[in-house]
Amino acid sequence: RYLVTGASGELGQLAVAELAQLVGPAAIVALVRSDAAATAYAAQGIATRRGDYDDRASLEAAFAGVDRLLFISSSAIGSRLVQHANVVAAAQGAGVGFIAYTSLLGPAARAMRIGAEHVATEAMLADSGIPHTLLRNGWYIENVLMGLPQALAAGQIYGSSGEGRFSPATRADYAAAAAVVLNGGHDGAVLELGGDEAFTMGEFAATLSQLSGRTIGFVSIPEAALAAVMVQAGLPATVAEVLADADARAARDLLFAPAGGLSGLLGRPTTSYATVLRAALADVA
Ligand code: NDP
Repeated sequence: RYLVTGASGELGQLAVAELAQLVGPAAIVALVRSDAAATAYAAQGIATRRGDYDDRASLEAAFAGVDRLLFISSSAIGSRLVQHANVVAAAQGAGVGFIAYTSLLGPAARAMRIGAEHVATEAMLADSGIPHTLLRNGWYIENVLMGLPQALAAGQIYGSSGEGRFSPATRADYAAAAAVVLNGGHDGAVLELGGDEAFTMGEFAATLSQLSGRTIGFVSIPEAALAAVMVQAGLPATVAEVLADADARAARDLLFAPAGGLSGLLGRPTTSYATVLRAALADVA
């Protein structure tokens, strides 16, 4: 049996769908917290179990009889040390045989505030003695697209990443890779994953200008100013500070992934960002 945590989330839903293609829906259990998520999975013929990262006993019960676990990192930044320790301890208690964990690119995880919980979780996995694979994912392209309406309205993209190169990939591509790893053949690997194409935010702005027919510039601003822009856009200050820290560290190419890791797992090129950008522009229009 395969179990996917965070199965109600955006990455989790895609991963369950991909895994169902590889191992069949009957072999999968989706970990959920809400009735809505349980109902949606029931309609797809996928079993669910209840579990909360804050409740170790619920996780241990949910993991009973599970051989291979896709552990999708929690979205509760700042609370993840305890939550992830609960997941690992519950997996040990339930006798789970393999864990694939969605971490962050190694250089980014070591240097960014957002990475500390990933580094700690990787250490917990190492200490657990459970065979595991690290899916060290780069940025999601979808993060970059979140600012699209503002970028189009203002004609400018603000950032602190300077000439730093990013190699983001779509959630769908990361999810497909996670399903491949869960299916087997990559146990024990440390996988640095990102899109085949890398770009600076200046290059991204140029592509966006070309595809939208408007002039969009990239404006480098200091980290503190970027955090202030994000707060103005509605993000809580604590989240804005962590994201601005990540963007400023990205100036040193820390979110650049070696090419071929993700596409190698997928057996095809990663989805090009121009394709994703065209679709997003059609949605915004
Ligand atoms: P989502 O926010 O869509 O999904 C988060 C999932 O985590 C949901 O299924 C949610 O369940 C579940 N969850 C949150 N808290 C708990 C809890 N206490 N117990 C059990 N489950 C919980 O995120 P994505 O799917 O987009 O991303 C997956 C993960 O990837 C994120 O959680 C984050 O760690 C990381 N991430 C990485 C990014 C990158 O660029 N590399 C960008 C964004 C996130 P529920 O539906 O019940 O709330």
